[in-house]
Amino acid sequence: MDEFELIRRYFVSQPVIRPDVRIPIGDDAAVTRVPPGYELVVTTDVLVAGVHFFADADPGGIGHKSLAVNLSDLAAMGAEPAWFLLDLTLPAADATWLQQFAEGMHGLARQYGVQLIGGDTSRGPLSIAITAMGFAPEGRALTRGGAKVGDRIAVTGTLGDAALALAAVQGATHLASGQKASIMHRLERPMPRVAEGMAMRDYASSAVDISDGLIADLSHILKASGVGARLIRESIPLSETYRAHLVQAGWEPALAGGDDYELCVTVPEASLPNLQEIARRQGFALTVIGEIMSGGGVSVVDAAGQPYHYNAIGHNHFA
Ligand SMILES: [Mg+2]
Repeated sequence: MDEFELIRRYFVSQPVIRPDVRIPIGDDAAVTRVPPGYELVVTTDVLVAGVHFFADADPGGIGHKSLAVNLSDLAAMGAEPAWFLLDLTLPAADATWLQQFAEGMHGLARQYGVQLIGGDTSRGPLSIAITAMGFAPEGRALTRGGAKVGDRIAVTGTLGDAALALAAVQGATHLASGQKASIMHRLERPMPRVAEGMAMRDYASSAVDISDGLIADLSHILKASGVGARLIRESIPLSETYRAHLVQAGWEPALAGGDDYELCVTVPEASLPNLQEIARRQGFALTVIGEIMSGGGVSVVDAAGQPYHYNAIGHNHFA
């Protein structure tokens, strides 16, 4: 068996078989069906060893995260994920590494019912490129471009835990081992907010997922919508672990840390009560943290209304 046979062994048999896949992995191309009245939503992300993750990181976590970041982009569009392609570049075909990687990826795929329908493998420096596809009702996918002055800005979950966990791994922040464990999964195995994105589709005026930090990703909405934003620092939702380290860590991990994979949405004031009711019913956290203003850029104020000058910007590979 050559090494690419070995690679195929871990990916051809997989936990999800969908009825809308007519020709699955194994032919020259896959053939799938988008339901009538829906549009295809497509996104891709590449993760490179030494840039996006440490080469010696847990392979299961790498498998999980490389799919999770793509599903997070679909979630930000309010799309229901369906299929994905995997392009894997490996220095060598290590059976143990591949098995753990596949388990991490297939485990997340199973949770969201997404089927691997094709891909490619090559020898080279370790990198993982995934293209994820889903659907949204015609004309109703969320975009970055619909925010209006007066809309409320809201986020799912809690922010900054992944950045705090990374700081702990790097030794920049000290966390007790129990506290570290309580947030490490946010860095290593983030859960894309798929159900949340779909639930918010009919209420939010714009959306983005928080991959590069709240300020950086909210700025994408502001640019696309031609508006500005005002955030109230104390309203940003923090985990218990983060709150216990707030004095030491400051607000920057929540404002500018990457890898949270929560959603940031803008919501017209009139739609907010309905959306909050839906969040309550579906059991997800949605916190209003500010408001869309005229002009551009993000200003942050503290609880007393005084300007807060944050001192970090999000991750930008080419900065
Ligand atoms: Mg995104």
